[in-house]
Amino acid sequence: MKKRRRILRLAALCAAVVLAGNLGACQGTGAEGTGDDTEAARAVQKEDADKSTVQEEYANADASKESSSEKEADGEADAGNDEQTQAPEADVDELSELLARETGEMISFEKNTYYLGDRFALWIEKGAVLPRDVADKIKEVMEKEEALYGLSYDDHLFAENATARDFFFGDGFRGIPYPEDKVNVMIRVYKNDGAVEWADTNEVVFFDEDFDPEKSSGEVFYHEMAHVLRLRQSPNLGSVLEEGIGNYAEWRIALELGTPCWEMIQYVDDDTYLITFDPSAMLEDPEKAFREYTLADRSSSQNEYQYGTRFVAFLMEEYGTDVIARLSEAAAKRQFTWQNVDVIEEILRETTSEDVFERFGAWLPEGWRRCSREILDSLIPFGL
Ligand SMILES: [Zn+2]
Repeated sequence: MKKRRRILRLAALCAAVVLAGNLGACQGTGAEGTGDDTEAARAVQKEDADKSTVQEEYANADASKESSSEKEADGEADAGNDEQTQAPEADVDELSELLARETGEMISFEKNTYYLGDRFALWIEKGAVLPRDVADKIKEVMEKEEALYGLSYDDHLFAENATARDFFFGDGFRGIPYPEDKVNVMIRVYKNDGAVEWADTNEVVFFDEDFDPEKSSGEVFYHEMAHVLRLRQSPNLGSVLEEGIGNYAEWRIALELGTPCWEMIQYVDDDTYLITFDPSAMLEDPEKAFREYTLADRSSSQNEYQYGTRFVAFLMEEYGTDVIARLSEAAAKRQFTWQNVDVIEEILRETTSEDVFERFGAWLPEGWRRCSREILDSLIPFGL
């Protein structure tokens, strides 16, 4: 039951962020106890959609002026976000100094705390409870995600847009330097307040339970870090591809680290599991479904996640594990937005083959059943 509730909860919250048009965001936890009730899930969905309006502020620098004015115009909706968007107070701890004083496996942070790594900055909200090795874990997962896709967090198409870092280390943590030559990934971890995790090119927001082995298997952490990595490379490739890349990473990183990826059960095609998703549209006309799901108002379905997970698994298998890197490289040379699905399809064909969708359709029935069995087998040791 717990597993099922987790899955339903995830579905509702993923949709929630999408509602606000924040394409970099998705996987959510944090509404424990509400996910198995549709009405409650909708309420959370609405609340989260409101909360996520402010996230677009960081979408990229070109958009930042625009979204500031949007934010002003939309002051009512943003009012509840102050806690998460205000620069932190200057009374802060430094993580390594804190760890020198504390001995426990789990650390309860009594002050806002920061950590400056070579490749990321971590900011932890006062009140959060995290494993003491959180910074090492982040580093490890970043390295594994880079290896998985052949991409680097060091690359950043929008390198000049240092909004997240400037915001926190310029205004909030006055006097604490964060040199320009450091990789500009800003990771913020809050004590859980029932909101939703999200990611963009420069920053990612988590809740402490995402790192707590007692409460989470790490899937959301892996998923959002994959978004950051991918979105740094090129314009947004649309929800089907981006969410597929997030989900595929979630699955593969969990396998590598030997942690269970329960969230993947909702994607399996297997006689022993009843899934509510109907794959007939994607089987009948894979290209049409790709276009529709990419362009759809993402408020009410899981289509893009379902399609994307299968599609990225197929791409990695059929066109080599560097396919996402090649796709990103080709996409970085173009000017487009996620709505330009024609351009996205062109880039896909250029990078893979003219008949990529036909081949996907042919691969799907057997290919995805094989992957599904692999997913289920991987969960058996964890009590499936
Ligand atoms: Zn996502």
